[in-house]
Amino acid sequence: MGGYTGRLLRVDLGKRTVHQQDTDDYLPEWYGGRALGAKIAWDEIPPGMGAFDPSSPLMILAGPLAGTAAPFSGRTTICGLSAQGYPHEVYTRSSFGGHWGPTLKRAGFDGMVITGRADRPVWLDIRDGRCTIEDASHLQGLGIYRTQELLMDASGPPRRVLAIGPAGENLSRIAVAATETESAAGQGGFGGVMGSKNLKAVSVMGSTPVPVSDPVRFASVCALIREEAHGSHGWPHEPKLDPEKVCRYGQRFQACTEGCSVRCFDARFYTTVPAVLQRGKILSGQMDCIAGLFPGLEGSFYDWRLGFEAGFEIGRIANDEGLNHWELLVGMIPWLRDLSSEGVMQEIDGVRIDFDDPGFWQHLLMGISRREGSVRSALAEGTVRASEILGLGGEQLRRYFPAWGYAGHWDGHGDRINYVFFPYWIVSAVQWAVDTRDPISSAHGYAQNIMGWSRICSPDFGMDWDGIMDVSSRVYGSRICADPRSGYEEKAFPAWWEGNRSVMKDSLPVGDQVFPRIYSRKTEDGFARAGDMEGPSFERHMFTSLTGIGWSDREMERASERVIQLERALLVRNWNRGRADDESLIPYYEKPEHLVNPFIGSPVSMDASRFGAVMDEYYGLRGWDPADGRPTRRTLEDFGLSGAARALYGASGER
Ligand code: SF4
Repeated sequence: MGGYTGRLLRVDLGKRTVHQQDTDDYLPEWYGGRALGAKIAWDEIPPGMGAFDPSSPLMILAGPLAGTAAPFSGRTTICGLSAQGYPHEVYTRSSFGGHWGPTLKRAGFDGMVITGRADRPVWLDIRDGRCTIEDASHLQGLGIYRTQELLMDASGPPRRVLAIGPAGENLSRIAVAATETESAAGQGGFGGVMGSKNLKAVSVMGSTPVPVSDPVRFASVCALIREEAHGSHGWPHEPKLDPEKVCRYGQRFQACTEGCSVRCFDARFYTTVPAVLQRGKILSGQMDCIAGLFPGLEGSFYDWRLGFEAGFEIGRIANDEGLNHWELLVGMIPWLRDLSSEGVMQEIDGVRIDFDDPGFWQHLLMGISRREGSVRSALAEGTVRASEILGLGGEQLRRYFPAWGYAGHWDGHGDRINYVFFPYWIVSAVQWAVDTRDPISSAHGYAQNIMGWSRICSPDFGMDWDGIMDVSSRVYGSRICADPRSGYEEKAFPAWWEGNRSVMKDSLPVGDQVFPRIYSRKTEDGFARAGDMEGPSFERHMFTSLTGIGWSDREMERASERVIQLERALLVRNWNRGRADDESLIPYYEKPEHLVNPFIGSPVSMDASRFGAVMDEYYGLRGWDPADGRPTRRTLEDFGLSGAARALYGASGER
């Protein structure tokens, strides 16, 4: 089969053993990345296992497209028990960009499963079909940047290094694992899980091409898709550089991930930023995604005044320490700022709370990652657990954290950086309700595209509402689901569809900020097409021409939905997850939204009973029992998951 190396690396750090397993054991059903992770999790994560248990499997998984010419295919997915998860350390995933996954494929592996805990710090050296466990005592306590520098200088072809910083070494639940393009597995606390295994870094080096089943078709498909791809982050137009920052700081565009061919709002690189805390030092680096908020954004909710230079430096400290940007900037900092302004807490471990002071930020971030002081040690557990440990801020917490221990994202409430209003956050609310983490990181599609392609957000290049509704109806089956004058009707299907697509993105992999291709400025009717392919089928065409697995769009969707069914069954078997848990986020949405739909004229709060009807419909689409939100025996068996059906319902159970 094209796209696969056929080998999965199995490393037990406790026993210091390395062996290889045949990826074919899982193919084609569990077709890579997150799909593969779900199956291994079902088989190898029993109830009661914790994220920091030495036996908990940490899976770092590439997908069939990684390491090939497929555009936007450089992502990698980490799967395992989530240290950040709340109230349970449930199984989840987190993906990162860069070149690490493609290089692992060219080193001869489709992914790796790491268990056990080393008796001292180690790093893994993977190169051309081999893996050795190396001593990392010289890397202990170092930041991510220095760790990567030391490992990437070693002799031979270019290495790619996934590493943790002090936050991960100290088992912070908001620690990340990051690559050398500063692209990180941000959510989930997987940096802390690596630390719990005494695993400081994983270096990959490889140059073996990935096999391709139909090279001619694959090359043509990739070229057409690369040519068609335009706009990212749901924006129809390309971003521009800031002339002043170009002159002063050497700002330029630099893609964060292998195979990316668009100019992206997120990926700006700086070469000459004078440090503020480390006087005399000139800093350089990427400023990706939410990191752009570190300086503060005048006129926005995030209006602290650090300024660009100090903000850039603080962002680099967070990167080097290995801390989750989204948790900090969208959750923790707004929460701490509210505690300070509402007189609940004025200082942190002896230092007055002042988000305009870079010294305070340095005190806060380095104290969290090194667990210094009682408040910062509590914050290292994540904001939600810190509120419990410190016994304060519960009310303020509910302003920013919808569920599962994660700060809001495209939800129209806690997330104040993304522009979305009712009814569109109803779909995000369903996605959040049924997930195990912030779902949006691999499911931006619905709300981001509709808002970004609308003339409200893109007056020059956007579409009118009729155009948005016409194009949306091609994938979501109705115009109403994208109608700004609509309410709760037709909102379950987009959540179902985007859920399936998020599995595809985390499994193939492809970039979430570009796929699925739905809207286009290059076609008459605004619907994305390239050659004989329709936009939403681009991923399937790349997959079939690469692997030779002749799935139709429906079969690819069904394979992706099988993953969701097994992930849900795992939640039920291990954490007794049900509808009541899903709907525990309703009070968060019952507060008024922070933006207003111009067709309504006033902020909307969620109506629990009407949302309940949307959830009924969603459970129906999934084949889950609306009474308890669980996959029925029939559904599991229909997806070929009879083992899961037996585990949940016994050999001869009803339903
Ligand atoms: S579109 Fe942006 S976020 Fe996506 S790979 Fe390219 S640079 Fe990275």
